[in-house]
Amino acid sequence: MTMTPIQPLHARTGQPLGEPLPTATNAQIDAAVDLAHAAFASWQASDGATRGALLRALAAALEARRDTLVPLADDETALGPVRLNGELDRTAFQLRRFAALAEAGVPFTALDDPAVPGAPPVGHPALQRTRVPLGPVAMFSASNFPFAFSVLGGDTASALAAGCPVVVKAHPGHPRLSLATFELIGQVLQASGLPAGLIVGVLGGVDAGVRLIRHPRIAACAFTGSTRGGAALQAEAQARPRPIPFYGELGSINPVIALPAVLATRGAELATTLAGSITLGCGQFCTSPGVLVLIDGDAAQRAGNDAFVQALGDALRAAQPHPMLTPGMRRAFDTGVAAWWAAGAQPLLNESSSGPAPRPVLAQVDAAGFLQHPALRDEVFGPAALVVRCGSIEQATALLAAVGGSLTVTLWGAETDSADARRLVRAAMAMAGRVLFGGVPTGVAVAAGQQHGGPWPSSTAPMTTSVGDAALDRFLRPVALQDAPAWLMPLHGRV
Ligand code: NAP
Repeated sequence: MTMTPIQPLHARTGQPLGEPLPTATNAQIDAAVDLAHAAFASWQASDGATRGALLRALAAALEARRDTLVPLADDETALGPVRLNGELDRTAFQLRRFAALAEAGVPFTALDDPAVPGAPPVGHPALQRTRVPLGPVAMFSASNFPFAFSVLGGDTASALAAGCPVVVKAHPGHPRLSLATFELIGQVLQASGLPAGLIVGVLGGVDAGVRLIRHPRIAACAFTGSTRGGAALQAEAQARPRPIPFYGELGSINPVIALPAVLATRGAELATTLAGSITLGCGQFCTSPGVLVLIDGDAAQRAGNDAFVQALGDALRAAQPHPMLTPGMRRAFDTGVAAWWAAGAQPLLNESSSGPAPRPVLAQVDAAGFLQHPALRDEVFGPAALVVRCGSIEQATALLAAVGGSLTVTLWGAETDSADARRLVRAAMAMAGRVLFGGVPTGVAVAAGQQHGGPWPSSTAPMTTSVGDAALDRFLRPVALQDAPAWLMPLHGRV
């Protein structure tokens, strides 16, 4: 079977960058999974020090190759060296954080429930609830985080810490960077005396991804990307003869609700901050604020909200977004904005633009229009935001319910306990993975308390997170050992 090569593109010009790169054949994809499967036997039994040493070596290698990797990433993504250096730092931090968790024994924790004499239900046998790694994980890199959600990103780091090998499908938006990262990984594995199958790379298109997720030896899938792509791959994961867990981190519109009182005192500052968040990275963040909800309770509040929208539009007009990641994303941005106009949104800022860098877009609609048109609740990936004007807190909560699922909701002005504040917080917690009471949603801290993943359509597994320490839990399955022999108990399932 012939596979179409991938032509790397210069993100700033859309022109070809170097030679087309060969993609994996079906036989090569199968061989990659077999290699990962072979590595699983020893890796699932490895101790925390071994896992930690590998993750730390990968972090150090990433940092040591910074001068090569960042320019490669910049050519293919146009994200700029400042952002990319920061993202590389974050990726090394994540690798070391999961190293520390493995070294501290987090993947090997177990709950001992000693036998209780007597008849059930009070009496029961000795039980040890422990966890085992799932097996080889198929990992799909995202285009918009070439380091942190790509080859050596959080999915790979957390799966390895949990004891699972990873087969990475590189994103075709940054294939040269991905190949350089695979090369670095190969050197680290060899120098560490570890099996090559612990992290295996695959370059290919949609067919390659489908082949990978259908492979019987793949035990789970971690995906970061679009809602459409995630839905298609989740269906594949479920349609297998043996369905597997699918952890999809998808798109999100991240509503920001700004109460009139906070805008009356801090409107100018917040307009600048919000415009910065909408245009950050050319709006190509899953946490980009795509919807701003304003409550026009009375005439004074309406006037204050009008002033805020004016200031927001001015700040957006002054912004100069950089080129988008790929020509396909640039086209998708125009299509998404056109869908807003078709659904009756009023353009507040809509300057024409051509070429790889879009102009920021600001639109407005009333609550009834937002509720009526599902297209207004779709993610528009890029520097665009929709202002929704509503008349009451009840309407604002109805808007959140209509959105259904989001990685984040930001509430500005809920500092004081009140029935309205509680109503808003309840509505936000019902549909978001993270609720912010200050600042903007872009920027996801890598920390123990983090939750990155909300109800559909923002993720396929809202009980889990892809960022933060708990990301590791996705790749471990609980097992209860009943009346286990004494030799087995201290091993906590690591045999
Ligand atoms: P994407 O277009 O969905 O691509 C992601 C990966 O999935 C690519 O390897 C792609 O392969 C593959 N893919 C897409 N559709 C497929 C299908 N039907 N069958 C098999 N494979 C398929 O997403 P992206 O452009 O990389 O990322 C942008 C999106 O990701 C945005 O919506 C953004 O909000 C979201 N995102 C979410 C998070 C989060 O943490 N929740 C983080 C970053 C980004 P091909 O390219 O070969 O088609």
